[in-house]
Amino acid sequence: MNSPSLAPGKPCPLCGKPSVADFRPFCSKRCADIDLNRWLSGVYAIPAEDTDDETERPRDAEDSRE
Ligand SMILES: [Zn+2]
Repeated sequence: MNSPSLAPGKPCPLCGKPSVADFRPFCSKRCADIDLNRWLSGVYAIPAEDTDDETERPRDAEDSRE
């Protein structure tokens, strides 16, 4: 028996899970919100995590690992 809320066909473009009719093409409100936020932020193609504070990051730490 198929769940009535499932919309077979395209998987969620964000996580690859089966999409849900209520939130398609996404699998959940969470994924839909993530996508929406990316659009609103205008950073859809840019990794939002990467900021330009690279100068403050202790790069030397990589050398001291053992
Ligand atoms: Zn998803």
